Amino acid sequence: LSPAALEDLRAGLRREYEALRSEKLTLDMTRGKPAPEQLDLAAAMLALPGNRDTTAEDGTDARNYGNLQGLPETRALFSSLMGAPPGQIVVANNSSLALMHDTLVYALLKGLPGGRGPWSKEEPIAFLCPVPGYDRHFALCEGFGIRMIPVAMTGAGPDMDAVERAVADPAVKGIWCVPQYSNPSGETYGADTVRRLAAMRAAAPDFRIFWDNAYAVHHLTAERPALPNILDACAEAGHPDRPIVFASTSKVTLAGAGLALWASSLDNLRWYLTQAGRRSIGPDKLNQLRHVRFLRDDAGIAAHMERHRDLIAPKFAAVAEAFAARLSGLEVARWSNPKGGYFVTLEVQDGTARRVVALAKEAGIALTPAGATHPYGRDPHDRTLRIAPTFPSLAEVRKAAEAVALCTLLAACETGPA
Ligand code: PMP
Repeated sequence: LSPAALEDLRAGLRREYEALRSEKLTLDMTRGKPAPEQLDLAAAMLALPGNRDTTAEDGTDARNYGNLQGLPETRALFSSLMGAPPGQIVVANNSSLALMHDTLVYALLKGLPGGRGPWSKEEPIAFLCPVPGYDRHFALCEGFGIRMIPVAMTGAGPDMDAVERAVADPAVKGIWCVPQYSNPSGETYGADTVRRLAAMRAAAPDFRIFWDNAYAVHHLTAERPALPNILDACAEAGHPDRPIVFASTSKVTLAGAGLALWASSLDNLRWYLTQAGRRSIGPDKLNQLRHVRFLRDDAGIAAHMERHRDLIAPKFAAVAEAFAARLSGLEVARWSNPKGGYFVTLEVQDGTARRVVALAKEAGIALTPAGATHPYGRDPHDRTLRIAPTFPSLAEVRKAAEAVALCTLLAACETGPA
C-alpha cells in the first residue's frame, strides 16, 4: 500500500478497535479447558459405581488401599488408546502432567534403567523441545534446571534432521512429543518421523521420548490419523525402553476428576512402580470403576468423543471462518485448521505477537501470553499465538476470533510490512 492508503487503513482499523473496546468484553481464550456442556456429557458417571458396586473383576475392594498399577479392567479399557497391553499400563489419579513430573523427578533423583545413575548427578542435561509446544512441558524443564533446545515442527512432527544431530550429544536426555493433534499446532507426526525417532542413535543410553498422547481420541473430523505405535516402533528398532507414553481422560470425562495413564516397557514399568510405590499406597480405584462402567470399551469411548466433537467442532469452524473473513490473502497471518485436539495456532506478522495480545487484552479478550509456545517464553520471531476455542460459548468464540483478527491486522498496520 502507498503510505496514504496505509494511513487510511490504519485509521479505519483504529476506529473499529475503539468501537470494540467500548463493548467492554470479558472473554477468555487462554487455556484448553472443556466447556461446561462438555463436562455435562459425563454427568451420569458421577452416580457410578454406586454403593453396592465396589468390587473389581479380580476381587479387589475398590474402596480400600492398594493396586498401585490400577485395576485390570481399567488398564484393559485404555489398552488400545495407549497402544500397549494392559500389563504395561499404569492407571493413576487425575493428572497426566503429574505423571510426567514424577517420571522426570524419579529420573533426576534415581536414574533410569540403562542409565549411569541419577540425571541430577550428571553434567547439566538437556531436553529437545519441539516448537511451538506445550508451555507446561517447558515449565517442568525450567523448574528442574533442564536446558531446553528448541526444534522446529515441520507439519509432520519435529525436524528430524535437527533431532538426530542433537541426540549425538550425551547430555540430551529426552524429547517432549505431543504426537497427535499437537499442542498447539494440531499436526500429527508422520510415519517417517516416528520411525526415525525410534531408530535414531542417541548418545545417552537412557534417552527417553516423553510421548504425551493427550489428544489420542480427540478428533474434530471423520478422519483418523494413522499415527504409528511408538512402543512397537521402538521395540522393533531395538530401543524398547526409549518411549514413555502418557495420556489422560481429562478431556474425555472430567478435567479435574479423570484418570491419568502411563505405559512403557516392562523394565520401565517395574522401575516406575518401585518409585511410585513409595509415593503412594495406591490410586483412587472408585474413579477407575466409575470410568469402566461409564465408558465400557473402545466403542463407548469413540461414541462419547463424538458428542464432544458435536459441541466443539462448530467453535473451531467459527475461528476458521473469522480468520478467513478478515485475514485471508493479506499475508499478515497464517493459522492452523486442526483436525483434532484443543488448539489453533495463529502466526501473526513477525514482531507483532506481543502487541496483538496487548491489544486483545485492552479490548477485554485474554489470550495465552505471546512466547508461551516456546521454551523460556521466548519466541524469537514474536509471531506465534495459541488460540483455545473450547471453553467459551460459540457466540463468544466467534466474537473473540473476530476481535483477534482485528488486533492482528491493526498490529501489522502499526508496524508496517515485515
Ligand atoms: N498434555 C498436553 C499436551 C495437554 O494439552 C494437556 C492439557 N492442556 C495436558 C497434558 C494436561 O493433562 P492432564 O489434565 O492429564 O494433567
